[in-house]
Amino acid sequence: MDSQTKENLKGLPLPELEARILAMGHPAFRARQLYRWMYKERESDFQKMTDLSKQFRQHLEEQFTLPKIEVSETHPSDDGTVKYLVRLPDGQQVESVFIPTEGRATLCVSTQVGCKMACTFCATGYQKFVRDLKAWEIVDQLLSVPHPRPVTNIVLMGMGEPFDNYEEVMKALKLFNDPMGLKIGKRHITVSTVGITDKIQDFIDASLGKLAISLHGTTDEQRSHIMPINAKFPLKELMDTCRSLRFRGTERVTFEYILIKDFNDSDEDAHRLIKLVHDIPSKINLLAYNENPFVDFKRPSEDRVLRFQNILLKHHLTSTYRRSRGRDVAAACGQLRIEAENRLKRQAWERLKSVQVSANL
Ligand code: SF4
Repeated sequence: MDSQTKENLKGLPLPELEARILAMGHPAFRARQLYRWMYKERESDFQKMTDLSKQFRQHLEEQFTLPKIEVSETHPSDDGTVKYLVRLPDGQQVESVFIPTEGRATLCVSTQVGCKMACTFCATGYQKFVRDLKAWEIVDQLLSVPHPRPVTNIVLMGMGEPFDNYEEVMKALKLFNDPMGLKIGKRHITVSTVGITDKIQDFIDASLGKLAISLHGTTDEQRSHIMPINAKFPLKELMDTCRSLRFRGTERVTFEYILIKDFNDSDEDAHRLIKLVHDIPSKINLLAYNENPFVDFKRPSEDRVLRFQNILLKHHLTSTYRRSRGRDVAAACGQLRIEAENRLKRQAWERLKSVQVSANL
């Protein structure tokens, strides 16, 4: 069997892996050993799985593959953040970002190549959608990248809209959660959506991670201007859905709100935001817009952000202000991929020019 026809074992849930191993004529417990090698030891080479019999390793090698994503660029920031451009087996590239803070190390992973949502404040929104990531490609951003220290938290806030790739994202969350493997508990996993309302309750019921919703606007007009999805799922529908959510325990929604200078950062916006969320168990994460060369939005001053936050706090809303990380390494979502693609196009153009020049000589 050549590598094209071999089946990829990465990303299979344990029961499916057991079924494959049984079908090969080996006992089901071998699947658990293999699973541990893949997700605990993070091994991608069957031959290095030394407590599996030689014959079993040979059978695995003949029938299956364990592909890996590869880091194509690493951009460390002065503040400890590391931005990675990773290459998938078909040559497509996505970004993931390692963000260390005191007591935790968060990895922000991508779920799609490009994105259909076309948010105008986001560099990824300007890239055409190419394809969904498979569950294993989402998880491999943790498994196959040599991060500076062990990752404790996962956020699905990189390139792509997670709920637009719902099935594969849910499979990936199960792999992150699995106590036999990566052991990242659901309280340490956050999935961020632009507000695809018909998936929200399903996600809460699955109980595989915490929910964050990108709000970024306090009126339909404002939100539609930067998030086209608002035409399909307008603000009232989104907030009604959040209001009616049936949570288990003490969970709540996190609303992400990026403050953009002179667009959504006024006192009136703060008061409208309070009205929108005051009766929803929630907290608000404020971020100041991360300027990038592709979009003409500006970052508000620190004073403006703190004034906005103070209004929320005075009205007893839980609100945090997350300072941007990795601003010196093109940290805006999607920026690195665009820059890498432009660089490749420039190199191809230079090569073409030099071929033409030498042909004319
Ligand atoms: S903000 Fe998220 S959903 Fe919107 S375009 Fe960017 S990656 Fe897609």
